Formats: sequence, structure tokens, C-alpha cells
Amino acid sequence: MANLDLAINNARFLVTVDSARNLFENYSIGISGKQIVEISKVPLSAKNTYDASDKLIAPGLINTHTHLAMTLLRGWAEGVDLQGFLEKVWAAEGAIMNYETAELGTKLGALEALLGGTTTALDMYLFPDGTHSGAVAAGLRHVCGPIFFDFPGLDGLEWSDRISFAKNWPMKLAEIGGPEIPKYLMPHATYTCSPEHLSEIAKLAEEIDSNIHIHISENLKENSDVADRYQKTPTQVLHDSGVLSRHNIFGHGVHLSDSDIKLIKTKAAVAHCPGSNLKLASGIADVTKYRSTGLTVGLGTDGCSSSNDLDMWPVMRLAGYLVAQSQGPENSSGEEIFRMATIEGARAIGVEKLVGSIELGKQADLIAIDLNKPHLIPVHDVYAQLVYAAGRSDVCDVWVDGEQVISNRESTRLNFSELRREVMAKVSQLNG
Ligand SMILES: [Zn+2]
Repeated sequence: MANLDLAINNARFLVTVDSARNLFENYSIGISGKQIVEISKVPLSAKNTYDASDKLIAPGLINTHTHLAMTLLRGWAEGVDLQGFLEKVWAAEGAIMNYETAELGTKLGALEALLGGTTTALDMYLFPDGTHSGAVAAGLRHVCGPIFFDFPGLDGLEWSDRISFAKNWPMKLAEIGGPEIPKYLMPHATYTCSPEHLSEIAKLAEEIDSNIHIHISENLKENSDVADRYQKTPTQVLHDSGVLSRHNIFGHGVHLSDSDIKLIKTKAAVAHCPGSNLKLASGIADVTKYRSTGLTVGLGTDGCSSSNDLDMWPVMRLAGYLVAQSQGPENSSGEEIFRMATIEGARAIGVEKLVGSIELGKQADLIAIDLNKPHLIPVHDVYAQLVYAAGRSDVCDVWVDGEQVISNRESTRLNFSELRREVMAKVSQLNG
């Protein structure tokens, strides 16, 4: 085809994650502008070509639940459960977080994510206009939105300010630009947003055509606190507030009851965060049951104060181990786990028409894995290699919207030394 901008040629393995589950060997991809326009048995000519003969090419990973700016608080809340974590972290956030630090921490988080092969992240944090600017500068497909608490919080916004900020959100997004994303509203949780406020958010989501992201049933104490207050599960609170009429993605969703699952069915997806859930001793989500009832399950890292990095590779591995341990090893195939980290994650966020697989017409969000490593030969099972043997340092090149944002393990957009200096200066305020 004429006028290709980029051809990724002779990929040793091309893992499409499409619905036919195609896994090609020695295939090539043609990209025009931001999109994949050709998948070919023969090498293609283009303005730029990339030799992938020693590489595995896959769709970029999709992190379905994180708080990127919390890179600045990595290791700040150790040895605690969810409630202890919130107490410690909220105090530290009060000391250093504002628009600029949220932007800076997110820039650092976006860089870490991209270097590890994550091309899309669903990010809940304060000052979302700041976080979005930081992530877009790094080149990440950054899905975010206004956050809601009943109380002013450290961004100082009263409830009415939050609502007007959210009404202006579509304009703000357009102003900041960056890769295409859906709109989101992000009430923090049912223990921080009242049913009345949740109903307001549901109406607003309808008005501006937005999805919802919220923490739900992360641990048993959350469930019992919410039950004490409302005699309901967090999912019932959402349902009764009208929030489930929109597409929801639940952060964690570790302890969903059978009646919760019946209520949400196809209206919500779960962001499974095995690393964070294990470290905070929140419990083990029954992902196999969720998936068998039709729930979409994506994978997430959570923020760096709880898990403590943005690395999706151990998240995949842990997800596989937990399924093997609780449901039997026949349920933990690398392919199923890799689908959760890519196309299922895209479906969970509502971006499956844009990204999550390598298919004609999709955006070129791609990663290259260097197979020329002792721990990656020989290849008997490509998916097992990806999930159970590969790691983030094997990701050598990354494209988002057809633009190479990571080249040979370095950002093409950010100067890490400068970023490091800025980060170290800011966090010194915490310690001093
Ligand atoms: Zn979270």
C-alpha cells in the first residue's frame, strides 16, 4: 500500500489478541497516521521502517486502575491495610500535592508505565487537568476525569465546585488534547460519596455522556462500614443511586456478592489489582467466577503507595498464580491472562473500538519485546513466555497513536534527568 508512515516488518511473533486469536509468525504491520492499515505476510515499504525480526509485537498493555501521581509517595505507607493506608497517604498528600505536583508525579508515572509497555491507563486522581497534562506530555493514552468526595479534600473544592468543574470537563479535555479517550467521572468510593451525591453524579454522567470509575468492595471492612451506614453493599448503594445506569468500572471489586454480580452483570467491569490486593491483605477476587458470569475483568496496578510500582508484568503473573491456586492451573493459561491485560482491559475501560488488539482500523498502540534474552528462549508457548517469563525491561520500543514514544528503552519526549531533578526537589518537602 502506498503512503505508509511506518512499517513494522518481519515480527518474529505478532500477537494480535483479536477475536480470532490470531498469532502470526514473521508478519508485518503497516501504519498510516495513527492507525493500523495493513497486516501482511510480506514486508512493507514506508517512510519509516522498523525491523522486528528478533522481536515480539503486541498491543500495548492496559492498566485499568491506577493513581499515577502517587509515584511521589512510593513506599510511604508500608505495613498497613486499606484503612491504615488511606490515613497515612491522605496526610502525606496534604503536605505535597497540588496542581503542579500532581502533574509532575503523573509525568513520572506515565514515563514508568510507557517504559514497561503500558500504553493506556485509567487514572483516578485529584487535579485531573494537571495529571492529564503530565501524562499527555509523556505520550500516554491517559483516561482520567474529575474526582468526587463529599468533603473538600486537599484540592479544596466544595461539592458545588466539583460539579461545575465536571460540567466543564469535556472542554478542558479538548483544550489539553492528546490521544483519544472516553469521558469519565470518578467518585472515589461509596464511603466517601453519599447516595445523594452519587445520584447527582449519575445525572451528570448522563448529561455529558460519561462513564464512571469508582473503588468498590476493596476489602471486607469497607463492606461492613458501608453496611453499617446504609444496610447495603457498596454495589447496592451504586445501583440504588442510579449510577449503574452508566458504564462503570470498579477499582478492585474484591468482595462482590452473588447478588452484587446479578445487579451489575454487563453494566460494570472490574479492575482486578492482585498486587495491591495481596499487599494490603484485602483478599482474593474470584476472577474466574466474575468472568464466567459475563463480567469483564481487566488488570490494574493501583497506585505506587500500595503496590509499589506501575509494572503490569508482575500483575499479570500474580493474576495467573491466584487463578491457578484458587481455581486450578487449567484456568490460568497465559493467553487468558494476556487478554485481560490487553483487549479485556480495553473493554473494561470502554476503549475496545480504539485499542487493545492489533487489527485493521485500530489505533497503533504497540509494544516491541526483545526476544534476544536468555530468559526468553526457546519459545514453546508465546503467551506463557509473555505472562510467566517476560518482564518490563524486555520492552524496548513503544508506539502510541503510531508515534514512537519509547525508543530503545528511552522516552522520545521527556528528559529523564530533568524530571528526576524536579521530582527529588519536590519530595524533599515531605522529608524536611
Ligand atoms: Zn485505587
